[in-house]
Amino acid sequence: TTFESLGLDPKLLAAVKAAGYTAPTPIQIKAIPPVLEGRDVMGLAQTGTGKTAAFGLPLIHQLMGNHDKRAPKTARALILAPTRELVGQIAENLVLYIKGTHLKVTTVVGGVSINRQVNALEKGTDILVATPGRLIDLMDRGAVRLDAATFLVLDEADHMLDMGFIHALRRIAPKLGTPRQTMLFSATMPKDMEEIAATYLNDPIRVQA
Ligand code: AMP
Repeated sequence: TTFESLGLDPKLLAAVKAAGYTAPTPIQIKAIPPVLEGRDVMGLAQTGTGKTAAFGLPLIHQLMGNHDKRAPKTARALILAPTRELVGQIAENLVLYIKGTHLKVTTVVGGVSINRQVNALEKGTDILVATPGRLIDLMDRGAVRLDAATFLVLDEADHMLDMGFIHALRRIAPKLGTPRQTMLFSATMPKDMEEIAATYLNDPIRVQA
């Protein structure tokens, strides 16, 4: 299987090539086509399998095809991840993939000045990568609205279960736009995760790395 056969925009194929990827990984082969079709996806995958591109490339493809303008203090896609480090890694990868597009990626994490993040969100963004706690702080301050966000990714969702994630998700998810496409990635699928999937995903396709 080649990247060319997966249905991605030529700009993304060029970006993938520039990143040095020669062939898609198994999770990319399995996840990219259904995500492009707009399906919800539940992915069983560890870090290192290429899962960021598995959700990132088809997400960017869909944002590229839609010419909605960024409005102030809004995001068009939300990616939640458990740690500052993971948020940074996800954004680093997405920045490679959006090369040659008009899209913007913004990160918000705890433990650093919130004022800079308020300013960064002022003009709006396309893809917001966030840890849940800091995102809620910013929402409570009125620094960001999520009603235009119609894509939600929950990355390393099993690691978020330990940190009051269910509580955070209960506050965040209802604020997103509808209809919404949701992707959940996790290295394990404990019972709690199945419950989250049943609550927040709509008829998901299951893929495994
Ligand atoms: P991830 O599992 O998303 O954290 O990705 C692990 C690493 O693999 C990252 O450094 C990616 O840039 C890289 N990567 C992702 N997809 C591919 C691919 N198809 N070929 C080569 N490297 C890749």
